[in-house]
Amino acid sequence: MAEMERACLVRDAAYDGLFFFGVRTTGVFCRPTCPARKPLPENVEYFPTARAALVSGYRPCKRCRPLEKDDQPPWASELIAEVEGDPSSKISDADLRKRGLDPATARRHFLRQYGMTFQAFTRARRLSGVFNQIRQGSAIDDAVFESGYESHSGFRDAFSKVFGEPPGRSRNGDCVYISWFRSPLGPLVAGANAQGICLLEFSDRRMLEAQFATVRQRFCSPVVPGSNAHLEKLKVELENYFAGALRKFSVPLLYPGTDFQRRVWEQLLEIPYGETRSYQELAGAVGDPKAVRAVGRANGLNRIAIVIPCHRVINKGGELGGYGGGLRRKQFLLDLERGQGSML
Ligand SMILES: [Zn+2]
Repeated sequence: MAEMERACLVRDAAYDGLFFFGVRTTGVFCRPTCPARKPLPENVEYFPTARAALVSGYRPCKRCRPLEKDDQPPWASELIAEVEGDPSSKISDADLRKRGLDPATARRHFLRQYGMTFQAFTRARRLSGVFNQIRQGSAIDDAVFESGYESHSGFRDAFSKVFGEPPGRSRNGDCVYISWFRSPLGPLVAGANAQGICLLEFSDRRMLEAQFATVRQRFCSPVVPGSNAHLEKLKVELENYFAGALRKFSVPLLYPGTDFQRRVWEQLLEIPYGETRSYQELAGAVGDPKAVRAVGRANGLNRIAIVIPCHRVINKGGELGGYGGGLRRKQFLLDLERGQGSML
């Protein structure tokens, strides 16, 4: 991370193509060598590939043109320029043929350069605008409406082509619905299947694609934007929690993991609202007082932030310790629970 920050700062050409960075405040992604003014480090997110940046909802910077390659044939550059000019345009195989381009050649070229077919590339570009709005906290309905998708079902279809099978077509018939909630700490992304809540994280914590891939693998079911009764309930409980009016969540939770991880997460659920425990105390409660580091790791792997209160674990000396969502958020949650809500 520090190395990537340094590479960006000095515009180190040796790193060009090795990683890309996205700027959360603008929704644009760049090469490390971009000549534009450098963003604040806390607003930056790094990606190993342009594809990862694209499917996380970033659009390519107009100055450093992160999608262009030196060895790109002119027809590919023209196609990309066209998609950039109007991301909502749909260029079919027939359209390609009309221009004298072989769709199979386009497919191979885009697969090699970007790890996805040309059609997947244009879909990801169309979706990126929607993801960016969602990242900023818009409701799915608003985002879909503003992006020009005529209907929810069109969006679901495009989304599932990127993220998995649409609901109803999966083997077990269940899927994980994903909703975004506003909170005083920024947008939260939550996931639930028919059994309960399986994901709650700050939506800038990790790239969306990785979050959904983990959930998809864990539950062997597709991830689709939407809601269900558990998510509706969680939304209300979170609002009450942030208003200081709710001390214990009652939504059903799903947290598959190793035996050890599950023991740690269950002990976290035992820490009362407004109190904290040290990592040492938690290790003792789990029945393995020496496993302080392992307890810390399991704590950090908690997928249901706030509800499974990993923020209530602090260092022995009373310092905050770490927090996946950032220490300002940890402090905010602890202050809130002590009845001394702080401003960010
Ligand atoms: Zn740039």
